[in-house]
Amino acid sequence: MDKKGLIIIISGPSGAGKTTIIHRLVNEVPLLKQCITYTTRAKRPEERDGVDHFFVDEPAFTRLIEDNQLAEWAEINGYRYGTPKAGINAITQTGNHAVIDIDIKGAASIKSLYPEAVSIFIKPPSLDTLKERLEARGEKDRLVLRLERVAREMKQAQRYDYIVINDTLDRVIASIEEIIDKAKSS
Ligand code: ADP
Ligand code: 5GP
Repeated sequence: MDKKGLIIIISGPSGAGKTTIIHRLVNEVPLLKQCITYTTRAKRPEERDGVDHFFVDEPAFTRLIEDNQLAEWAEINGYRYGTPKAGINAITQTGNHAVIDIDIKGAASIKSLYPEAVSIFIKPPSLDTLKERLEARGEKDRLVLRLERVAREMKQAQRYDYIVINDTLDRVIASIEEIIDKAKSS
């Protein structure tokens, strides 16, 4: 019997709630682990290296690409982000399920490498709510750039297996748990 775990891709605009949702899911769904990705952007005060991302400088990121360590990588808001192959494999080959927070380009790359991956697009209830949540988070870094991406990103939502609206967190978590249960049994 194949005991490889699932790959769950989560995408959505900045501020849509991906980080919040993934933290809840990892705490509540048995065997679900987050695949931590690399980035060249600076760590925010509340973030921890190796927990939110692996924070690396440009030369280190270039070495990861050259050493073929990344399943995919993309430049986002002027910084580079990449998914470690070893990170996905370490989770799925031990029968755990991997959840990855990546952008649309990354999601497409992961889907072509791992066609069985389940992709979920998180949408904010409205653009106004999205702006309020970003401001509440105190996220001023490249805010204009981030908001410019939103309209472009929302158009890609239909390419995903599922679209989930992040209205109330409990409802979102229940919907995603249902999606995961369905994927496990198929
Ligand atoms: P992302 O990781 O997609 O950029 P975050 O998870 O950081 O988004 O969420 C952005 C902000 O919105 C955070 O301050 C978070 O606490 C808040 N937030 C997320 N989901 C909800 C929700 N369902 N209701 C209210 N606030 C939310
Ligand atoms: P943040 O800087 O807020 O952590 O992430 C910014 C964007 O980068 C988000 O849209 C997130 O989904 C995406 N992202 C994070 N890690 C990766 C990765 O390894 N690859 C790709 N393609 N996107 C990523």
